[in-house]
Amino acid sequence: MGCKVFISADMEGTAGIVSGLQVTRGQSEYVRGRLLMTREVSAAVEGALSAGATEVVVCDGHADMQNILPEELHPEARLVRGSIRNSLQMQGIDGTFDAVLITGAHAAAGTPQGVLDHSWVGSMVHNIRIDGQTLNEACLNAVVAGYYGVPVVMVSGDSATIAQTKEFLPQIEGAVVKEGYSRYSALSLHPEKACALIRESARLGVFNRGKIKPVKVKNPLSMEIDFFKTDMADAAELVPGVERLSARSIAYAADPETVFKVQELILMRLRYQ
Ligand SMILES: [Zn+2]
Repeated sequence: MGCKVFISADMEGTAGIVSGLQVTRGQSEYVRGRLLMTREVSAAVEGALSAGATEVVVCDGHADMQNILPEELHPEARLVRGSIRNSLQMQGIDGTFDAVLITGAHAAAGTPQGVLDHSWVGSMVHNIRIDGQTLNEACLNAVVAGYYGVPVVMVSGDSATIAQTKEFLPQIEGAVVKEGYSRYSALSLHPEKACALIRESARLGVFNRGKIKPVKVKNPLSMEIDFFKTDMADAAELVPGVERLSARSIAYAADPETVFKVQELILMRLRYQ
């Protein structure tokens, strides 16, 4: 029987990346940053294939979701690219997949030594909670995967991100490619060493997928978002069913699939505000 692997790729947790210049389209280092990202994703593809994956789908989930260089990506992977979509970083996931890998992950907004820490929209989202628990993007992705019965088996990023993710997902393989000193500085592995580590972590994660449990997802599921400013909560409140908790906070509860979609709708509304 075949083994299908889904790779959700972000950018900030890539080895060598410490600043907005490297992750923002049009900035001076972006062209090189996207190549670093693409190579790490390809390393994860290689690791998955070496553990027996017969099908690999990569989802580009950073900013405009068109960062991975298609021609440089491992040729065995198919690529989810561009917006608009149902899910920022998990577009294309369903119950036919056997394992999820997350590359380039970063810590939740407000994490000490988390390189480029933020939650979805850095300038707007202060905190996001699912069923009362603050989660980083990797863990939020694991909730989506869990809804479809698929385990996240490997995450790569800085040390603070891996430690934070392991609190929620203790069984995963964690590939630490850099140690943050602050939001904008880190001690990083060389990209080649980082790729070797990711390759091996991906291989181990996919190989051990049967031992790693998917996240159990409640139904109905509740989501709360704290924003930085009141106008952001004003905008989110336009979505029917959204409850205003306070000047800067909103809540929404429904079946998980609807919660995921509403989260995406609110984020999209904010991005184009
Ligand atoms: Zn990102």
